[in-house]
Amino acid sequence: MIKNKKRELFSLSTTAKGTIYYSFDDNFIGEVKKMLQQCYRRNVKFFKREIDGVDLVLLYTRQEMDDLSGHKTPPWLVGRADPSTQSQICIFSPEVFEKVSNHNKNEFKKILCHEIAHLFTSAIHKGYRPQWFDEGLACFVAGQINLASNFSINFNPRTIFLLGTSKQWSKNVAKPSIQGYWHSWRAVSYLIKKYGKLQLLYFLSSLGDRCNNIIFYKKFRHVYNKDFLEVIKQIN
Ligand SMILES: [Zn+2]
Repeated sequence: MIKNKKRELFSLSTTAKGTIYYSFDDNFIGEVKKMLQQCYRRNVKFFKREIDGVDLVLLYTRQEMDDLSGHKTPPWLVGRADPSTQSQICIFSPEVFEKVSNHNKNEFKKILCHEIAHLFTSAIHKGYRPQWFDEGLACFVAGQINLASNFSINFNPRTIFLLGTSKQWSKNVAKPSIQGYWHSWRAVSYLIKKYGKLQLLYFLSSLGDRCNNIIFYKKFRHVYNKDFLEVIKQIN
């Protein structure tokens, strides 16, 4: 449901289409289009595949985000990928980024990359669970976090179990004692650094469309030949 927005269609690759829905007076459209193409290519390079396309809906008020999400959204939330459509991302335009959220406008590109990574992940594994795995992967692909970020906290393996379902994720992600995005990124980056990206992509594709914790642990053991709990205990 996209009302009162202008639409522009263009190519993201030889097969993928990009569409941007935006307000007539948005001054950032040229830049956003360029960033969308760059972020799409970054994801293709990482995931070694294409998706059909990206429909990018630029938002201008917090109310628009709340209406699309179906609930009141926190000030740190600036973008969302809709896993049901597998192509739609809603994100605040750089024009209003700092007005409607506590993010700096310079973060727009990495957040866009993060949301596109969710579309790629859901094209491979529709289950979208456990959530820490999807979020950690999206942060890794977007290069949003590095080891120097939040260096003062130690990885706590128990945290991962508080970030599995979407309900747990929304409840716990922003708690200072949990640092949901950092822990998710740390676990995923450890798996990639230690066992390689291809192994992780293979694991992701093995999860199928109806993943839960039991399937996740079982597939992990099958792909990595190790117990997931033992592996995450090694992270520091
Ligand atoms: Zn995310």
